[in-house]
Amino acid sequence: MNTYGWAARDFSGILSPFHFERRANGDKDITIKILFCGICHSDLHFAKNEAGMTSYPFVPGHEIVGEVTKVGHNVTKFKIGDKAGVGCMVGSCGSCENCKQDLEVYCPEMIWTLKTFGGYSENMVIDEHFAVLIPNSLPLHGAAPLLCAGITVYSPMMYYGLCKPGQHLGVVGLGGLGHVAVKFAKALGMKVTVISTSPSKKNEAVERLGVDSFLVSHDQEQLQVAMGTMDGIIDTVSGPHSVLPLINLLKTNGKLIAVGVPTEAPEIPYIPLIMGRKLIGGSAAGGMKETQEMVDFAAKHNIIADIEVIPMNYVNTAMERLAKGDVKYRFVIDVANTLNSSF
Ligand code: NAP
Ligand code: ZN
Ligand code: ZN
Repeated sequence: MNTYGWAARDFSGILSPFHFERRANGDKDITIKILFCGICHSDLHFAKNEAGMTSYPFVPGHEIVGEVTKVGHNVTKFKIGDKAGVGCMVGSCGSCENCKQDLEVYCPEMIWTLKTFGGYSENMVIDEHFAVLIPNSLPLHGAAPLLCAGITVYSPMMYYGLCKPGQHLGVVGLGGLGHVAVKFAKALGMKVTVISTSPSKKNEAVERLGVDSFLVSHDQEQLQVAMGTMDGIIDTVSGPHSVLPLINLLKTNGKLIAVGVPTEAPEIPYIPLIMGRKLIGGSAAGGMKETQEMVDFAAKHNIIADIEVIPMNYVNTAMERLAKGDVKYRFVIDVANTLNSSF
């Protein structure tokens, strides 16, 4: 199927219109007319080949929501007209230990959406297993970022047991992932502290997102006062940073969970971990079963991302702004209404 979208051609990351072929809809596939697509920082890392893994032309986009326009003979989960979401992955082997435990994202043969033509495009053809149903109550533009930002913070909160009422969660970096983590944690009845490089984000974080406390990461006095108070921390930071101050914020047995992919790997100091029986872990997005659970949880608690909706031809400016942290808190492209007019 001939499809159009926007692609980066080289490590400048600049996107421009691009035509390509999608496979025909197979028996287990659905075709989705893409309505909205979020701009995750991973799109930016990949567009600029910051991880050295990009193949050009690169069509970004893995926070995809749209309407099902075609279903294969063996499709059971979707019917035409349903709203579907696609996130970080589009395939896996289906038979390994991870796949059997609904942990497709850890399958050695898992296919990242970022390694295919993604959601800054007209449509998508995907095995129904890798799409979730978007409940009707969720506004689609605000739901799009749940498909990556949402599951990437929800999954480690559940797996590492950082989801209990009354626990104290630190969220490092108040960006796309971070602000959704705050929303999930507040819905779960947790105490939330944001640790941020941006003092200008404080008022809104407290007043609108309801965070209980806000620490500026370069303010040693603030960090000192909060030492040893957190059960867990979700680190969403996309740039170079030190993890020692974060380890110090944890209680004994506290857990620091990395989900952000900093452009330079931080040094891990062992002694403060040993002295507090603390743990550093990581987490990549989440499996498909859990992604559906997360979307349903979001619908139940009215959680959507705070977004700035943009037309397709604003995408390069949006990427520049994202690199500077100038977005509250997620750009979402209005694909259906603006892709055509951008040609
Ligand atoms: P984002 O919207 O740009 O948010 C990242 C936030 O980190 C910024 O808003 C900023 O918050 C803080 N930050 C940025 N540079 C920093 C630096 N040099 N030092 C300290 N803080 C800095 O990005 P996002 O879309 O949430 O993604 C965050 C990271 O997660 C990216 O690296 C992305 O690739 C990664 N990611 C991982 C997965 C996964 O599966 N594990 C999935 C999706 C995304 P403050 O202004 O509050 O400091
Ligand atoms: Zn992402
Ligand atoms: Zn597998």
